[in-house]
Amino acid sequence: MSHEIRTPMNGVIGMTSLLALTPLDAEQKDYVDTIRVSGESLLSIINDILDFSKIESGKMELEAEPFRLSAAIEEAYDLMSVKANEKGLDLLYYIEPDVPSDIIGDPTRFRQILLNLISNGIKFTSQGEIEITVEKTGLEHGIYTLQFTIKDTGIGIPQEKFYKLFDSFSQVDSSTTRKYGGTGLGLAICQRLVALMGGDIRVESEEGRGSAFIFTIKAAANTAVTHFRAEEKFSAGTLYGKRVLILDDNETNLKILNKQCAAWGMQPFAASNHKDALGMIEKQDFDVAVIDLLMPGRNGVEVARMIRKKHKALPLVLFSSAGHVPADTDLKQLFRAVINKPAKHNQLKEILLRVLSGTGSIDAPSTTVAATGEVLPVRILVAEDDYINQKFITRAMKKLGYSIDLAVNGREAVEKASATTYQLIFMDVMMPEMDGYEATRIILDHHKDGIRPIIIGLTANALTGDREKLLQAGMDDYLSKPYKIQDIERLIKKWADKMLAQTATTRTYKHIDLEYIMELAGGEDEFVIEIIESYLETVGPNIRLLSEAVTDYDMDRITFLAHKLKGSFRFIGCTGPGDIMEQIENSNSRGDRMRIKELMSLVEKEYAGTENELKQVLHELNAQR
Ligand code: ADP
Repeated sequence: MSHEIRTPMNGVIGMTSLLALTPLDAEQKDYVDTIRVSGESLLSIINDILDFSKIESGKMELEAEPFRLSAAIEEAYDLMSVKANEKGLDLLYYIEPDVPSDIIGDPTRFRQILLNLISNGIKFTSQGEIEITVEKTGLEHGIYTLQFTIKDTGIGIPQEKFYKLFDSFSQVDSSTTRKYGGTGLGLAICQRLVALMGGDIRVESEEGRGSAFIFTIKAAANTAVTHFRAEEKFSAGTLYGKRVLILDDNETNLKILNKQCAAWGMQPFAASNHKDALGMIEKQDFDVAVIDLLMPGRNGVEVARMIRKKHKALPLVLFSSAGHVPADTDLKQLFRAVINKPAKHNQLKEILLRVLSGTGSIDAPSTTVAATGEVLPVRILVAEDDYINQKFITRAMKKLGYSIDLAVNGREAVEKASATTYQLIFMDVMMPEMDGYEATRIILDHHKDGIRPIIIGLTANALTGDREKLLQAGMDDYLSKPYKIQDIERLIKKWADKMLAQTATTRTYKHIDLEYIMELAGGEDEFVIEIIESYLETVGPNIRLLSEAVTDYDMDRITFLAHKLKGSFRFIGCTGPGDIMEQIENSNSRGDRMRIKELMSLVEKEYAGTENELKQVLHELNAQR
């Protein structure tokens, strides 16, 4: 069911994301936005209902795999950052030092709980922040009880409504649906999932002041990697004892950064407005200052300019929010580094380390490159049976600068992948005739000795155990339906390095010396192709002739052919087989027939490997033309 529903939804949402990139007048833009918002909310309702029915029918099984708590929180925040940014809300978190950094559990479902609670928080808060805190509340026989609090500064919930919050299909009042949307399933799902994780969930709230959803889970620490954050202060090295000034108007963020920097062994000083900050800088020396961009009165860039007038050398780090950095500011002059909100603690630590060790350089907030295809020319195959989705992905790829090849089922994907070298394959998992899993296995099997494409599964069920199936089949990653053009771009970029590392010219070979051949060809691909082609045309037949001559023990022909082959091998830098040929020449003049036979079988094996690798290079260079 899930696949059947999500595939057409992919058509709707994907095409809308493309339509939004075309020139539209104000009225059309409004229509497109409405389709997008409706599509997305329909999708979240479908997801909720599918999930809920799965839990209610007792079919929900949780995974048990290691994951990092801070990463799960950061990922959830990243997904929500656009919405939070639109409303000017800060997304903050703090993990107590005695909480294990890595635990064993179901990261996807854990993140789902967080996402639900964070998105509620954002939905019902118009100003302020969402803050997540993580504490250890118990430890028994190696199993931790961890408590998570997701606190917002929003409208709050009347006490008499608490009891039915976690019922399915319930909302605090009926006007909620009209104003905020939603199905009333989110909290019910959270409660069921939390229960499956051995914990419970409750709410604390005061009308008009905000709500806090507090849940616990039971989990073992992943002892293979876990470390306690308190130990970080000893490992933070150059951070120890360093004086950091933190300027932010958000008191909660100040409190968190204060604690965090102290845990790394730094001496933090907090200021909540620029006057205090400037006063502190006048009175004492700091090693580094971290400045928030969006503040009432003076923004972070203006404050930085004021500091720079007197203090040329104090390293400054900017906390920015995507889309809010004034375009004309010369960030490089003012700041050593820029960190995007929501702030990631490890990233902050790394940047502080870099800045304080003097190797810091500016990391401007990344802007999306329009045509990925120009920067990253790779060949892409898409296997997808649904017509609308084929159309969408073809257009989306075109926008990104790629012209792709299509396969309509797994069997066709296998055929195409053996005829052409692809660096990247998007593979729908459910297709007629042959599904994506099987196609992936066959393709990978065909490529097991050579350059293999990155395969990304297109799935409707990323949440429901499909992920494991995908990875088991050998796929590298997945994209869950429905997806947008930006999601495709993100994945291509994510795998860029790996794909580039797998191209013919950068790979290492066992039998051939590609660098030597490239040099021979003066670095020109065309010439490399010519050399390899003529080599394959002459050497293969000559080896067969030599082998016949050995069988017939025709000494003159052996001398002639071995000499010729010696030259051919050495010409392209295959010194091994070249040397064997010389030995055949020598053995021949000694009349050592046995030895010639031995050497012959050696060279045949060696040549098979050479031929294989040369063909791979040829294949790929031709594909790039
Ligand atoms: P929905 O999909 O309607 O948001 P939920 O189960 O997630 O369903 O939430 C149920 C109701 O609880 C919401 O409609 C809202 O009235 C109330 N609620 C949930 N979270 C918050 C919050 N952080 N602040 C205020 N009200 C909330």
